[in-house]
Amino acid sequence: SPPPSTPATHVFRSKLPDIPIPDHLPLHSYCFQKLSQVSDRPCLIVGSTGKSYSYSETHLFSRKAAATFSKLGVQRGDVIMILLHNSPEFIFSFMGSSMLGAIATTANPYYTGAEISKQLKASGAKFVVTYSRCVDKLRECGEVLTIVTVDDPPENCLSFSMVYDANENDVPFVEIDTNDAVSLPFSSGTTGLPKGVILTHKNMVSSVAQQVDGENPNLYLKRNDIVLCVLPMFHIFSLSSIVLISIRSGAALLLMEKFEIESLLRLVERHKVTVATVVPPLVVSLVKNPKVADFNLSSIRLVLSGAAPLRKELEEALMERLPQAIFGQGYGMTEAGPVLSMCSAFAKEPPMPTKSGSCGRVVRNSELKVVDPLTGASLTYNQPGEICVRGPQVMKGYLNDPVSTSLTVDVEGWLHTGDIGYVDDEEEIFIVDRVKEIIKFKGFQVAPAELEALLVTHTSIVDAAVVPQNDDVAGEVPVAFVVPSTQNGLTEESVKEFIAKQVVFYKRLHKVYFVKTIPKSPSGKTLRKELKAKLS
Ligand code: ATP
Ligand code: MG
Repeated sequence: SPPPSTPATHVFRSKLPDIPIPDHLPLHSYCFQKLSQVSDRPCLIVGSTGKSYSYSETHLFSRKAAATFSKLGVQRGDVIMILLHNSPEFIFSFMGSSMLGAIATTANPYYTGAEISKQLKASGAKFVVTYSRCVDKLRECGEVLTIVTVDDPPENCLSFSMVYDANENDVPFVEIDTNDAVSLPFSSGTTGLPKGVILTHKNMVSSVAQQVDGENPNLYLKRNDIVLCVLPMFHIFSLSSIVLISIRSGAALLLMEKFEIESLLRLVERHKVTVATVVPPLVVSLVKNPKVADFNLSSIRLVLSGAAPLRKELEEALMERLPQAIFGQGYGMTEAGPVLSMCSAFAKEPPMPTKSGSCGRVVRNSELKVVDPLTGASLTYNQPGEICVRGPQVMKGYLNDPVSTSLTVDVEGWLHTGDIGYVDDEEEIFIVDRVKEIIKFKGFQVAPAELEALLVTHTSIVDAAVVPQNDDVAGEVPVAFVVPSTQNGLTEESVKEFIAKQVVFYKRLHKVYFVKTIPKSPSGKTLRKELKAKLS
C-alpha cells in the first residue's frame, strides 16, 4: 500500500462507502461473473443488422476466439492489436485476449499506415484483428504480422470466421496474475503524441467496480437497460464506461459502427435505448439537428457525457429535448483506468442533487486531491489547482517510458492529471481546463474553455476554440477560431466586443479567425494543438 500523504493534504473521497473489489479475478472472469444469471439475456445487439447475441453466446464466442488465437500462437504476455469499429468481433477478440493472459491494444481503423505503424512498433503487436481494407496499411508497416480479417480475407490473411468453428474447450489453462497488463490503450493525443498506457486486470476491474458495483452502485445499470454504444470502443472511455460496465451489469449493448445522427435516432427509437453515453460533439448534433424532433426518444432515462468539457448551455438545451432523462458527467483519463469521477445522480439511491457543469464526485475506493501546480501544496474547497487521484484503478505506467511515468505518478502513488479543476462545498468536481492549455497573459491565467463556452452562447456562433498566440508584450494572448452559423453579420470586431463586454481585460480576444469546422478527435475532444499549429 502507498505511503500516507503528509498531514496537510486535503483528501476528497466519495460520499458512497468503499466496496470490496475482487482483485483476484482477471478482467474477463470478473465481467462474466454473473453469467449464469443472465445467460439467455441479450448482451450485444448489432444496430445495422438487428442481429443479437445472448450472454452465453458472447461468452462462448469469446472462448472460441481465445482458442483460435492460441492455436495461431498468441500466448500470455503477447500484445494483439484490435483495429475494428464497434462490433461483436471486437468484444470477442478483447475478451478472448484477456482469457489468454494476452494484452489488447486497440486502434482506430481510420488511422493512416504511419499512425498504425507507430502503435504496432511501440506495442510490439504481431497479431492483428481488422478489416480487409486495412491490410494494405498494415503491410506498409513492414512488420511480419498474423492478420485476421472479419470480412473476406485478402491473400495471406486468415478469416475471423474460423473462430465460430473452433472448440471452446481448446482454450489453454493460463495462470493470470491480476497485476499483469490486460490492455494497452493509447491516450487521445490531444496535447501531444498519443501515449501507450499499461492497464492491468486489477486496474480495469477496479474502475468497472467503482462505477457499477456495490449495493448502491455509483452508476446503476439494470439488466433491462439498453445501452447505446456509439462512441468508439477502441477508446478507453467507451470500452470501460459503456462496454465493460454493461456486461458486468447484465444489460444489453446496442452497437453502432459509426456515428450518423439519423440512424442513431432511428435505433434509439426502435430499440428503446435507456442509457446514452455521449461526448460533447454528439450533444451538439442532438441539440442542433432538426430531425431529432421527429423521433420518440422518451425511453432514454440516463445521459452520461464525458471526454471533454460540456458547456452548460448545451446541457440545458439537451435536457429540453430529453426532459425525462437524468443528465450527468463523468470525468476520465486513460491513465486513470479511466474513471476519476462520476455524477452522483446516477447512483441507485442518489445522495443529493447535482449541479449543472459538475463532473460528479470522485469514485469510491479512491482518493482525490487538488494541488497548486507550481508549489504542489494541497488545496481545499473551491480552490482551482491540478487534480490528482490515487487508487487501484491508476495505470501501471506508460509503455516504455519510465521517465514520463514517474513524472505522472509520484512516489506516493498520486496520478497527476494535468487538468485544472476544483471541488466545491458539496464535493462536486468542476474541470476548468488543462494545465498545458491555460493561456498565460502576463501573470494572469486565462482558461480557453471559459471563453469557448461564452462564444457559443452567441446566436450566430456554432462552435469555437480558443488558443494562445505568442505576443511580445504579454507573452501569450487569447485568440479565437469561430464557426459562424451564417457568414453575414458576424465580424471580427463584433465577436471581440461580445466577449470584451463579459470578461476582465486580460481575457479579451486579440484576434478572431473564421473557420468552417473545429478539429475534433474521434474521442470527442477539441484539438487545439492543430489550431495552434496554424498560427505558427
Ligand atoms: P493526451 O494525453 O494524449 O494529450 P488526452 O488527455 O485527451 O490526450 P484521454 O486520456 O483520452 O487523452 O483524455 C483525458 C482528458 O480528457 C482528461 O485529462 C481531461 O482533460 C479530458 N476530460 C475527460 N472527461 C472530461 C470532462 N467530463 N470534462 C472535462 N474534461 C474532460
Ligand atoms: Mg492526457
